[in-house]
Amino acid sequence: MSRVYNFSAGPAALPETVLRECAAEMLDYRGTGMSVMEMSHRSAPFKKIIDDTEATLRRLMGIPDNYRVLFFMGGATLQFAAIPLNLMRNGRAGYVVSGNWSQKAQREAKKYGDAVVIASSEDTSFDRVPTFPASVDQDLDYVYVCQNETVFGNMMREFPQTGGVPLVADVSSCFLSAPLDVSRFGLVYAGVQKNAGPAGLTIVIVRDDLIADGPAHADICPTYLDYRVEADKGSMLNTPNCWAIYVCGKVFHWIEDTGGLQAMEERNRAKVRPLYDYLDGSSLFHGTVVPADRSIANVTFRTPSPELDAEFVEGAAERGIVNVKGHRLVGGMRASCYNAVPPEAVDALLSYMADFEASHPV
Ligand code: PLP
Repeated sequence: MSRVYNFSAGPAALPETVLRECAAEMLDYRGTGMSVMEMSHRSAPFKKIIDDTEATLRRLMGIPDNYRVLFFMGGATLQFAAIPLNLMRNGRAGYVVSGNWSQKAQREAKKYGDAVVIASSEDTSFDRVPTFPASVDQDLDYVYVCQNETVFGNMMREFPQTGGVPLVADVSSCFLSAPLDVSRFGLVYAGVQKNAGPAGLTIVIVRDDLIADGPAHADICPTYLDYRVEADKGSMLNTPNCWAIYVCGKVFHWIEDTGGLQAMEERNRAKVRPLYDYLDGSSLFHGTVVPADRSIANVTFRTPSPELDAEFVEGAAERGIVNVKGHRLVGGMRASCYNAVPPEAVDALLSYMADFEASHPV
């Protein structure tokens, strides 16, 4: 068996120890004689799994008691609709558009009300986080941001000052890669397939008072997307994605056992620093994001030509360095260095970049 250096943007590399544990429990989960995929979601063993998964996440992130943790089926994209359906009470929300994902969220939200773009970096091809307005209209139902724009590789270190307006954040591609002060937000959500588990599960962390009255658009909000119902039912309105919840639980324990989020952030920073340093000193490659806003998860870069980019990606695969092709929207390269990507993978990539540069003088 040989594992590749996997820089996939998602679904992405998971910790090897977690995968091994899952494999060991595949046929007989702790004496039950069945796999987690085969057991009832109402059974005692699964109840223990989901409760432990939530409790571990709460400890890891320091989630305050007045926030609910919801395990939603479906991708993060489903939340682009669920958020306005639940939270757009007065029909107006502000969107910070810092890339592809926040733009998609804003366009989806327009179906349900006035989704106003309050800041955007589209005019500079999303090479940075846009400048936030000094203050926001206090009539807005919420202000929406995407903390880490997976496609373009920019990441917010700070968040807009919103006064009393709830801040909503898509943290899919930086979920659990560093500490996050949940109390700063009305709602935080993440598709888990980058740093936490398999695709098909999205975790929504939402402040109690925002969902107390049910969805803003109660007349059209599918029961399935009703945050209050999901909260009341303990994420068991219907059959949840049991397998993904189980894997996430294991990943949460792995993070805890390896030092928690502060340690994870330090490791992630140390992991991507040499890549950015190399890009800054290179004559062939260049990073695509301004230094202050560079992601600690998705390192985006390119050569002077698409043909050379393609040659680089092809040569990488021959060395077992896979999934470094940039998103189809932007081309170039992208090395996603999520939690489970080991520093050795970055070493291998750097060594290949140096060889490639030496054989392609500019
Ligand atoms: N938000 C961000 C930041 C993402 O990176 C992605 C997917 O890569 C999504 C949302 C959409 O996630 P999904 O494919 O789970 O719907």
